[in-house]
This record gives sequence, structure tokens and C-alpha cells, in this order.
Amino acid sequence: MLFDCMPVTRFEQNCSILACERTNKAAVIDPGGDLELIENLLELQDLSLEVILVTHGHMDHAGGAAALAARTGARIEGPHQREAHLIDKLPEQGARFGLKAQRYVPYRWLDDGDRVRFGDEELQVLHCPGHTRGHVAYFSAASRLAFVGDILFRHTIGAWEHADGDLVTLVHSIRDKLFPLGDDVRFVPGHGEMSSFGHEREANPFVGDAAAAKWPARMQGAPGCSIGTSGS
Ligand SMILES: [Zn+2]
Ligand SMILES: [Zn+2]
Repeated sequence: MLFDCMPVTRFEQNCSILACERTNKAAVIDPGGDLELIENLLELQDLSLEVILVTHGHMDHAGGAAALAARTGARIEGPHQREAHLIDKLPEQGARFGLKAQRYVPYRWLDDGDRVRFGDEELQVLHCPGHTRGHVAYFSAASRLAFVGDILFRHTIGAWEHADGDLVTLVHSIRDKLFPLGDDVRFVPGHGEMSSFGHEREANPFVGDAAAAKWPARMQGAPGCSIGTSGS
């Protein structure tokens, strides 16, 4: 799988472009804006855009999805349906920050365990609430690469101090859904530098293994959460 990443909008949101080397079919993850940059890159690499994937409904990630779909004919998949109220409010979100953001209805909403395909490539979908309720991550098992939006960053974690956020749920998503994918898995966060899950287990002051060992009991209360148990 070919892979490229570029910051878009003044929020420097990481838009990823993935391509199947055999068919030249591409997927774009989180086209928040600056669509001409994304389209130039697709054209330069002679790629045909098959699917637009969205991690969550914040405008810097989802704001350009509808326009890119209209311009290319690609379908939009995701995020999880619990994000619908944010996708509906994209124009209002954008207006607040001076960005052009359009609402859309996806070809399909995604759920935990779903697969998305472009060319001969396949990505696994993980529902990872906590930053927002319907946030999803995408994982290429073949390339050992994950695209995690605003769930996890190098040495920090996503914001949770807003109406749709919840800290315990966010930590559960990171520790019990993302980290088990493997220490070797590299990930593209929604903003900033790439990292790996192994590095974050070692060095992340919020969700690393050392932090998890010291958590109070309340952090272990999320449903299905194994935080604090050894070896997870
Ligand atoms: Zn966000
Ligand atoms: Zn963001």
C-alpha cells in the first residue's frame, strides 16, 4: 500500500492518502479542506479516488468530504452513526472558524469490526469513542499502519473536555482497542508527528504503561475495560 500524509487547513490536520499499488485506486482519510492540494497529489501520482473515509465529525477532519466526493465521484464512508449530529452541523462548525464545511450523508455509517476496501486493499474499522461519540480509527493489518484522528497523539491524547468527550471512555479506547493492535504499529494522529503504539506505551504521560499502573480505581470502571490489569 502506498501512503502519503499532508497537513490541511490552518489547524494542520493530517489528511492521509492511501493507494493500492496494483490497481492505482486510492482512499483519502479526513479531507478537512485544501482540496486542491489533495487532488493535485492524486493526479500527480495517477491515482483514482475510490473512497473518502472520515474519522469523526469535527470540521477540520470532515469539512471537505462532501465537496471532494462531488468533484471526484468517490463515495464517503464513516464515521460511526453516533457522529451524525456533528456531521449535520458542519456548516455551523465551519462558520465559527472561517472554514467552508459541508454536511453529508455517507454511503454507509461504519461500526466496530467493519472493513472498508479500495482496490485490493482493506482497512479494519475500530469504534473508539471518547474524543467524540462516533469516532472511528482505521487499521491496515498488512501495512501495520493506523489512522487514529483525534484519539491519540504523540505524547498526548485527544481533548475530552467538551459535550461529546469522556476521559474514561477515551482511555479505554486507546488502551483496550488501539494498543492491542501491536507495539510495532505506527499511527498517523489527527495533528502532529507520527508515532507507534509501542512508543506511546513507553512514553505517553497520559496513557502509557507507567501512567496506567498508577491510575485510581475509577479509570478501571469503563465497560469491558481492562485498564490496570497486567500485560494488556
Ligand atoms: Zn476532533
Ligand atoms: Zn482535529
